[in-house]
Amino acid sequence: METNEKKCNECNKTLKGRADKKFCDDLCRNSYNNKLNSDTNGYVRNINNILRKNRRILEETLSATEEMAKIPRHKMMEKGFQFKYFTHTYTNKKGNMYYFCYEYGYLLLEGDWVLIVKRKELGV
Ligand SMILES: [Zn+2]
Repeated sequence: METNEKKCNECNKTLKGRADKKFCDDLCRNSYNNKLNSDTNGYVRNINNILRKNRRILEETLSATEEMAKIPRHKMMEKGFQFKYFTHTYTNKKGNMYYFCYEYGYLLLEGDWVLIVKRKELGV
């Protein structure tokens, strides 16, 4: 005889019936899923939007001048660039740390200047 007690993921009531049951009814299932979607995915979506916007600003700045571009930091901020969001960093042999938003990266230079670069391959 099986007596393993399972509880509803939403309201914590003891579940009866099938062993794979996770909720007592559709109401509990729906409110659980709604919470997941609004909180977690909303947060992820917001950050993804910021990163995509950052990437677009880097892309727009670079496309005019090809491989590298210098731009004043305040110009990037005027376009809506958010410096605290990036996907990864890369430190070169000289010890300069580049911040990347996907394949576009930037290096903070002296004063107000930012150097923008584009990487062609992953893993570097
Ligand atoms: Zn429930």
